[in-house]
Amino acid sequence: MKKRLVVIGNGMAGARAVEEILARGGADLFDITMFGDEPYGNYNRIMLSHVLSGEESDADIFLNALPWYQENNITLHTGVRVDRIDKFSRHVFAADGRVVQYDYLIIATGSRSFLPPMDGIYTPSGTVRHGVFTFRTMDDTRRMIQFAQHEHPGDQQSRAVVIGGGLLGLEAARGLQAYGLDVAVVHSGGHLMNAQMGPDGGAILRRSVEALGIAVHTGSRTTAILGSDRITGVGLRDQPNLDCDMVVVTAGIRPNVDVAVVSGLAVERGIVVDDHLRVMDEEEIYAVGECVQHRGEVYGLVAPLWEQAAVLADHVTGVDRSSMYLGSRTATKLKVAGVDVASMGLHGPERDSDEHIVFSEPSRGVFKSIVIRDNKMVGATLLGDSRKVAYLTQAFDQGLFLPEERLSLMFDLGSPGEEESVAELADSAQVCNCNGVSKGALVSAVRGGCTSVSAAMDTTRAGKGCGSCKLMVTQVVEWAAGGAVEEDPAANYYVPGIPLDKASLMVEIRSRGLRSVSEVFAALAPGSTEDAKSKMGLASLMKMMLAGDYVDERDARFINERVHANIQRDGTFSVVPQMKGGVTSVQQLRRIADVAEKHNIPMIKLTGGQRIDLLGVPKEELPLVWADLDMPSGYAYGKSFRTVKTCVGKDYCRFGTGDSTGLGIRLESRFQGIEAPAKLKLAVSGCPRNCAESLVKDVGVVAVEGGRWEIYIGGAAGAHIRKGDLLVTVDTPEEVTLMAGRFMQYYRENANWLERTYAFVPRVGIEHIRSVILDDSEGIAARLDDSMQASVDSYVDPWSERDDPLTPGQFRTSLPLTVLPQVPVR
Ligand SMILES: Cc1cc2nc3c(=O)[nH]c(=O)nc-3n(C[C@H](O)[C@H](O)[C@H](O)COP(=O)(O)OP(=O)(O)OC[C@H]3O[C@@H](n4cnc5c(N)ncnc54)[C@H](O)[C@@H]3O)c2cc1C
Ligand code: SF4
Repeated sequence: MKKRLVVIGNGMAGARAVEEILARGGADLFDITMFGDEPYGNYNRIMLSHVLSGEESDADIFLNALPWYQENNITLHTGVRVDRIDKFSRHVFAADGRVVQYDYLIIATGSRSFLPPMDGIYTPSGTVRHGVFTFRTMDDTRRMIQFAQHEHPGDQQSRAVVIGGGLLGLEAARGLQAYGLDVAVVHSGGHLMNAQMGPDGGAILRRSVEALGIAVHTGSRTTAILGSDRITGVGLRDQPNLDCDMVVVTAGIRPNVDVAVVSGLAVERGIVVDDHLRVMDEEEIYAVGECVQHRGEVYGLVAPLWEQAAVLADHVTGVDRSSMYLGSRTATKLKVAGVDVASMGLHGPERDSDEHIVFSEPSRGVFKSIVIRDNKMVGATLLGDSRKVAYLTQAFDQGLFLPEERLSLMFDLGSPGEEESVAELADSAQVCNCNGVSKGALVSAVRGGCTSVSAAMDTTRAGKGCGSCKLMVTQVVEWAAGGAVEEDPAANYYVPGIPLDKASLMVEIRSRGLRSVSEVFAALAPGSTEDAKSKMGLASLMKMMLAGDYVDERDARFINERVHANIQRDGTFSVVPQMKGGVTSVQQLRRIADVAEKHNIPMIKLTGGQRIDLLGVPKEELPLVWADLDMPSGYAYGKSFRTVKTCVGKDYCRFGTGDSTGLGIRLESRFQGIEAPAKLKLAVSGCPRNCAESLVKDVGVVAVEGGRWEIYIGGAAGAHIRKGDLLVTVDTPEEVTLMAGRFMQYYRENANWLERTYAFVPRVGIEHIRSVILDDSEGIAARLDDSMQASVDSYVDPWSERDDPLTPGQFRTSLPLTVLPQVPVR
């Protein structure tokens, strides 16, 4: 007969312990009942930061959704709290009146957020005040998002104060920025993340965090939450108050031990367990996870609980009753607010004989510190550059003797290290902390037939948490496959939802006569399933291929392209009247000024692309603004041809040899609105002084002596900087137009989705591009020219939709405009 196994707590440790038990044949040994006071299956709590920042939806972070419990014959009581255990009669008593008997019990109640004492945090009835949040559960995260989006006053820039500058606080601060809030972090410690790093690393982390626009107040203690009806700020000891509309408290966690305390179990800081994870003095009761105190230690990270769950499962199933948990050395590998952080052991030297190696590069946010004792590593902190983390974690975990060349601990010097370190890594070494995946598990996945990195990741869940371990996961898989790792087929898909590369996708679209995005999904997607992330790429590709034959579907467009304006961070739009080549007229300027006055445009700004930007227009007013302007749209949005920046050129400039303005206008008139895999920015300069910055454009043209024109391609001067490659020097503006168009069409047909020309040109090679464009080595030059001409011919002014919206809601506000932060009026 099966024994009754009851688990209290359905979080990361409880569910993991059950998974480990099932993996050891537990389904045949036990009838399993689980209680979780959250109303869900089991989710990856680490990923709540990604949910808050909007990178993941909450549906995506489930580790075990509800069907998993049914499939494994587990009775799960969701949303039900256990109040008490009777350890003598072996029953648990739940808040909903349920009483369940057990033979074995596992307590995995985790932790709760700690709310430090301060005035004004609770309502008179004892509940936490509206506008004050903790950050622990999916419900906490949802409430925070709801408040940040909808509930702060609209008459000023809204602010949030995060109390606590540890891992969680920084993640919360970063996440809240995504909703347009001004965020300040108040931290009582002398430097950020003081549990993980010393003051020097903390100072550099602070710079990186401040560079993100987050204010940091260290050495500050909050004494009160201010405001009566709604929150207006926080009070600080010995410092001025900080204004805010919401407060997030991430000031530490406390183990959830109430059930254990009222039931008479051994509790100190956490529930006291032995090396088998059995609660002290109890034969049948185990505890696992953050609620546990083992050999005096309480852990607040997932890596230890994976190790604990495995030992517990060995013991309770009887598979290996000698299995022991001896504690964890916590090495933290994280991405905190976008910054790579790895920390293990000591932050600095403790003895005179300790060696301390420090490298600091504040301008890049890089800091590395290693503490060495008796030629072994006893601590390390890496910030902003985690390339050596695999080797250092291993040196720390295994107490390896270090190479004499200490520099190689911090930098790749071409010496052996990285590859060796993967081979030497113990099978039990944890590669992915978020999901508790060891090197051994990855190796077994490869031996079990996973021949690509993504297949091994899918099977083991490695790399599917915060993502900071992906490099190491790849190294392990490559090593395990002996170099025979298959390229991930999905890496070549043009869009993620259709398993075809760009060339094959284009062939299929043509041969099947597909004309809309939904027809492509129906014909080519596995199970005909529509994939939202693929729509924009498909729409762009099909418009490029089919020109006027493309059947437009509005939901395949990004908001900017649905309303033909550029969405701003406060939910309003910017309207950019077309100004070809940067040239305008008195009439246009007057009209723009009148419109700006009439519609109270909060800001008028000259853009880097030589146009006038009218910023701060609510969505529903777009048609009115356009109607009053009565000028076509300049392309400031969408993955398409944007502008041609021009210099003064020969008519006015003393140095000019070519009519750069005239050619710029000609190019802009011809190519306006054409779709591309990514935006296309052009420029024409009237002489090699290059006042229009043509060398750093996707296509840049420069007039040179003798009335000739140089055409450069693949330049960039944004986040990525690259001088373009000279494609060809031609004699006439007509040739410029032809060659630029031919190159752009070749790029449109062959680039990956979102691949800018600065990546495309070096990938394909300038020599190859020259041979196709100039020498017609592939015999496609005429077709490229024709296809571009077809796109040019099918151009329709998108602003015409202002008079006749394509959908009833096209210009109706669907964004919570009033509650988003207001841009400043200048
Ligand atoms: C936003 C966030 C980011 C994090 N990031 C990282 C990270 O990057 N790296 C890392 O290593 N760790 C991180 N952590 C910590 C990690 O999530 C925890 O270490 C881990 O979840 C602990 O697992 P647990 O099962 O012990 O507790 P939990 O996951 O908290 O699960 C305990 C469950 O038991 C339930 N429960 C409690 N009492 C009862 C009761 N009486 N009856 C029924 N149910 C009960 C709780 O509601 C909860 O659902 C993060 C945590 C948060 C909140
Ligand atoms: S690039 Fe040459 S022609 Fe154009 S403005 Fe500068 S100096 Fe004059």
